[in-house]
Amino acid sequence: MLLALTLLGCAPEAPSSDPQPAEPTDTGAPPGPFGFPIPERDRIYTRIGVDHDPVVQTGLLASLLCADYLGRPFPNCYDEHDGSDFMLDGSFEAMDAGSPDIVAAADGVVVEAHDGEYDRCHAEVTAVSCDGNSGVANYVIVQHSDGWRTKYWHMQKDSVAVAVGAAVRCGDVLGRIGSSGNSSAPHLHFEVEDPDLVVVDPYAGPRSQPTSYWADQGVTDALPEPGCTAR
Ligand SMILES: [Zn+2]
Repeated sequence: MLLALTLLGCAPEAPSSDPQPAEPTDTGAPPGPFGFPIPERDRIYTRIGVDHDPVVQTGLLASLLCADYLGRPFPNCYDEHDGSDFMLDGSFEAMDAGSPDIVAAADGVVVEAHDGEYDRCHAEVTAVSCDGNSGVANYVIVQHSDGWRTKYWHMQKDSVAVAVGAAVRCGDVLGRIGSSGNSSAPHLHFEVEDPDLVVVDPYAGPRSQPTSYWADQGVTDALPEPGCTAR
């Protein structure tokens, strides 16, 4: 089980802010709407979501104790996870053969971008190993006109395609999926923050807010639709 746990998921490093998702609240006008940030959706084999359980778990099986937007435990989430992990089908082999693009989920301005870090961090039995490298992620953060921010973590080395200050439109390429930083396998950690820098789950559901922040959330366990036009 420990191996299984370390094969899935991630946690972004600094400068991530409040690691806890918001409790269900009315946050006013919804942001976005966000388009799914990976155009090649068929290359994503699973999603591991935000933990809505405010309890910080301890012990050997702590990662199992979480609640996703529907209240489901691991592997739909893991303890204290503050984003959604979209895992690349085929792992490193697929990454090496041509990793999928990551695109902006909405119009905005790039406020942070970092590249050049080792991108083959991987799971070992109880921890992530970056083979002696720094363990810092390649990432992009986009701020949107409504004050919300989206974060794109663990990108492939030398794939970051935007610089700080660049204006991006929904669907513009930001980089490619990698496994840099605290990452057990190639995937995108996609995170949404409200204007108060509180982590919010874009999925609507009984443990989240009633309005989806995706343009089209899709049916349960399907991936949201690309494109930023609400349907
Ligand atoms: Zn993650």
